[in-house]
Amino acid sequence: MSRRRQIYEGKAKVLFEGPEPGTIVQYFKDDATAFNATKRGLITGKGVINNRISEYLMLRLNDIGVPTHFVRRLNMREQLVKAVEIIPVAVVVRNVAAGSISKRLGIAEGTPLPRSIIEYYYKSGELDDPMVAEEHITAFNWASIQELDEMTAMALRVNDFLSGLFLGVGLRLIDFKLEFGRLWEDDDMRIVVADEISPDSCRLWDTKTNEKMDKDRFRRDMGKIEEAYQEVARRLGILPEGGPRDLKGPDIMQ
Ligand code: C5P
Repeated sequence: MSRRRQIYEGKAKVLFEGPEPGTIVQYFKDDATAFNATKRGLITGKGVINNRISEYLMLRLNDIGVPTHFVRRLNMREQLVKAVEIIPVAVVVRNVAAGSISKRLGIAEGTPLPRSIIEYYYKSGELDDPMVAEEHITAFNWASIQELDEMTAMALRVNDFLSGLFLGVGLRLIDFKLEFGRLWEDDDMRIVVADEISPDSCRLWDTKTNEKMDKDRFRRDMGKIEEAYQEVARRLGILPEGGPRDLKGPDIMQ
């Protein structure tokens, strides 16, 4: 592996300059954080599994015409993506009450919502990613009205598609978070799905037992975290070829 210039280090990933202009390498770490990084830990093999799961889901989205930043997986822990200008608004789609909506509005976890609910969060670690309204997003120019409409429509489409895909493998998509970026190609700009889609950013419950198969196992110290992530990958038919022994993956060289 050649030496790469690091651009950014986040909680779960490191971004490096890509091999050609307009590309970035996303390296998936095993680090886990929750509650705005006040809880920290390591989930062995998580980076390898999330790299695989996110690759798979982004490819499926590309198949149905939802544009993403994904180009190709490079190795166990790295994938090549297109460089985009990240829109500082995370979009959460909820189908069933859990997590912050249960806490904020006092809705028992597991209550199906009357319809899918979309929420927007301003991406600011300093401010603990506060929930915001469309008004804030457009008034402060984080995204234009058209961009926000496009992000919302795409998030609902992704929800429909992923809900069906997960249901097919015995998992309920309770909620998830998406990030979007502006992809510039010559003078044209389009909005694409960016970052990752994995059990770090989705809540997934077993359809039969309601067992949690996502990062809530880490947030709530439930144990068997690696096993749950691995099981999601197994059900999607994408466990790393070498099995669990592959999960540590190569150490990155800088
Ligand atoms: O915590 P909350 O209930 O608002 O989370 C909703 C969804 O968004 C969950 O699937 C969670 O994993 C995801 N999320 C995320 N990154 C955050 C906050 C939430 O991926 N910073």
